[in-house]
Amino acid sequence: MSACMNCGRELTYNEIGAHKKFINRGSTRFLCRDCLAEKLGVSPQLIDKKIEDFKRQGCTLFV
Ligand SMILES: [Zn+2]
Repeated sequence: MSACMNCGRELTYNEIGAHKKFINRGSTRFLCRDCLAEKLGVSPQLIDKKIEDFKRQGCTLFV
């Protein structure tokens, strides 16, 4: 399992998916939800909401 490249926290499958979706699909190092939100200048809750949206669309990057 990967760790967040910024804070070192262990990443979930969906956090890795979110990073791929928001930053770069080809990434090999990832940010956790909180660090991703900070980098993008949005709230962590928005990241959660987006993950739910992507799941509903059947995106395979999320479970
Ligand atoms: Zn982090």
